[in-house]
Amino acid sequence: MEYVSLGKTGLKISRLSLGSWLTFGKQIADKDAEDLMRIAYENGINFFDNAEIYARGMSEIVMGKALKRLGWSRDSYIVSSKVHFGSGGQAPTQKGLSRKHVFEACHQALERLQVDYLDLYYCHRPDKTTPIEETVWTMHNLILQGKILYWGTSEWSAQEIMEAHMFAKQNHLIGPVVEQPEYNLFTREKVENEFSQLYKTVGLGTTIWSPLASGILSGKYNDSFPDSTRLGMEGLEWLKDKNLTEDRVLKSRQLNSLAKDLGMSLPVLSLAWCLKNPTVSTVILGASKTTQLIENLTAIDAVQKLDENVMLSIEGIVKNAPRKPDY
Ligand code: NDP
Repeated sequence: MEYVSLGKTGLKISRLSLGSWLTFGKQIADKDAEDLMRIAYENGINFFDNAEIYARGMSEIVMGKALKRLGWSRDSYIVSSKVHFGSGGQAPTQKGLSRKHVFEACHQALERLQVDYLDLYYCHRPDKTTPIEETVWTMHNLILQGKILYWGTSEWSAQEIMEAHMFAKQNHLIGPVVEQPEYNLFTREKVENEFSQLYKTVGLGTTIWSPLASGILSGKYNDSFPDSTRLGMEGLEWLKDKNLTEDRVLKSRQLNSLAKDLGMSLPVLSLAWCLKNPTVSTVILGASKTTQLIENLTAIDAVQKLDENVMLSIEGIVKNAPRKPDY
């Protein structure tokens, strides 16, 4: 495993990490979730990603029980939660980024995960109804209280991140240090273009999500629609509509041939491509089976096979490199 500093912080994070969205507390048994965490940790993964909304709190409960049973030293791993969508409650105070909800959601996550502090705490989306100042102050205070160590954002715009950063700086508060955007061979704009200045000015780290576009980039949808996979799950029609497009399947078939020529699988090629980008601090893996995780872990070694020519061949297939600013 390789480790990098998360943005400009001193926190050393593994370049591959493990997430729990749609799997823990939902698609897979608790024992399988624990096995995934054990295999990940034994292979050097030190970051485990979670959120209050995942399986409406159940994902954090499952992860918390696994952490207890696995008994790892608390200083050897990084665990996160995210706040915004709530954990199922319908009251207006049970979601968003108000001081009240951020404070309460943090304590609820600590309880579910059975830890004394969160290493990373994310604002899962921007909240247009709460002043950014209120959220920055709340995150700063949670750090001073020892409830969280670092905080960041997910799917915020560069402008919103900059606003939070500047407010924190002007008021000697601790600002956001990490963003969690979607990044994969089909979705590139934020990471490769929109945030390009923030890596320098804010010192932003990135923990990227859906590196396989929810499984399309595993190639499993190339020829048919297999049973028992994420995009066939009840209630996830919106995710299927977003990801399973003709264009993506076509490109995924071409990428699959390229991967074969290189002697690797399509998921490994797709993950290695994400890792190749130095502004990506960590690629958060999702897996519903231990065999998938074991395969995906080989992406670290596959990066060296992605030389300039291979990267050009990939560009020739996806044809979606964001137009970079001329300065
Ligand atoms: P991916 O895009 O990599 O999708 C993971 C899914 O793809 C797996 O659950 C599995 O689904 C399939 N898969 C993975 N590896 C293989 C393989 N080798 N062969 C075949 N199929 C494979 O990642 P996720 O969408 O899960 O995102 C990763 C993490 O990012 C999440 O767990 C979460 O922690 C975070 N996230 C954050 C978001 C945010 O808003 N901040 C949003 C979404 C995710 P199956 O077997 O069911 O087909």
